[in-house]
Amino acid sequence: MHIGVAGLGAMGGNVAARLMEVGHQVTVWNRSPEKTKPLAEAGAKVVASPAAVAAASEAVITMLTDGAAIDAVYNGPNGLLSGDVKGKLFIEMSTVAPKVETELAPKVRAKGAALVECPVGGSTAPARKGQLLGLMGAEPADAARAKPILDQLCRKVEHCGPVGAGAAMKLAINLPLMVAWQAYGEAFAIARSVGWEPKRLLDLFVESNGANNALKMRADMIVKMFEGKDPGPTTFSIANGVKDLRTMVATGEAQGADMIATKAALAGFEDATSHGFGGGDGSRMTVYWTERKKKQ
Ligand code: NAP
Repeated sequence: MHIGVAGLGAMGGNVAARLMEVGHQVTVWNRSPEKTKPLAEAGAKVVASPAAVAAASEAVITMLTDGAAIDAVYNGPNGLLSGDVKGKLFIEMSTVAPKVETELAPKVRAKGAALVECPVGGSTAPARKGQLLGLMGAEPADAARAKPILDQLCRKVEHCGPVGAGAAMKLAINLPLMVAWQAYGEAFAIARSVGWEPKRLLDLFVESNGANNALKMRADMIVKMFEGKDPGPTTFSIANGVKDLRTMVATGEAQGADMIATKAALAGFEDATSHGFGGGDGSRMTVYWTERKKKQ
C-alpha cells in the first residue's frame, strides 16, 4: 500500500521505518529535512510538503508534537488537506487533547476523506517493532479501514469509541506514568542519602511493589544517569511530558477533577525544563531531584 508519514520525530520516524519493513511503499516529509535522511537511505520517497505526502498516498499517518503542529501540517498553505484528498484515510497518532481531534475530524470529512485517531502507548522501541498499544477513536467504517494498518504498528488496537475517545484514553493511561517519574525522583532524593551504589538502589526498587514497568525497563538507564554516564538517546522528552501534563490538567479539570497529583508532577517537569533538561528523557526526572538538591 502507498502510505505517507508526515512528521518524522522520535515516533514518526520509527513508524515510517516499521511500515517500510512490512512492505509498504512509504512517502515521507518532515519540517526539519535532515530527519528524512535515514528513511531516504532505506528507500522511502522524500517529498517537500505535507500536500505532496497526501498526493502520493492512500493513507497518511501523522505523529506530531501538539495541536499547533497538527494545525500547521493539516491546515497550512501546503498542508495535508490543501489538495484533492477525496477518499483518502488520515490516521492521527499524536498525544493531544480530545478537542484537537474532534475539531480536525469535520475538516477532514469536508474534503471527502476520513480521520481515524490512534494515539499510542509505548515508546520508540515498540514503535520500531510494531508493538505499540493503539487507542483508536473513529466511526466504525473508518476504524475497519484503518485496522489492518494499525495492526502492523501495534500489538493491540483498542477501538475506544468515536474520534476524541482515543485521545482521552491515551491521556488517562499516560497520567500515572508521568506522575510516577516525579514520584521516583522524590523517592530517590530520600533513598540516595543512605549512600548506596545506584545499581543496588535500582535493584531494590525494581523488586518492590512500587515499581512500574517503565522503571523496570529503564533501570539500567537510570543507573547510568546517577553515575554521570551517557544513558543513551531520549525516547520521550521531558518537554513532551510538560505538554502532556498540561493537557491532562486541562482535560481533567474540564471534567470537574482537581488533578492535584498531575499539577504537582507538572510543576516538577516544568522545573526540570527551566533548568535546561527539556530535551532529556522523561526517566531523567528520577535523578533530577537528587542532583538539584545538591546544587542548593
Ligand atoms: P518529537 O521527536 O519531538 O517529534 C515531533 C515531531 O513533530 C517532529 O517531526 C517535528 O518536526 C514535528 N513538529 C512539531 N511542531 C511542528 C510544526 N509546527 N510544524 C510541523 N511539524 C512540527 O516527538 P515524539 O516523541 O516523536 O512524539 C510525537 C507525538 O507522539 C507527541 O504527541 C508525543 O506526545 C506522542 N508520543 C510520544 C511517545 C514517545 O515515547 N516518544 C510515545 C507515545 C506518544 P521537527 O523535526 O521539524 O521538529
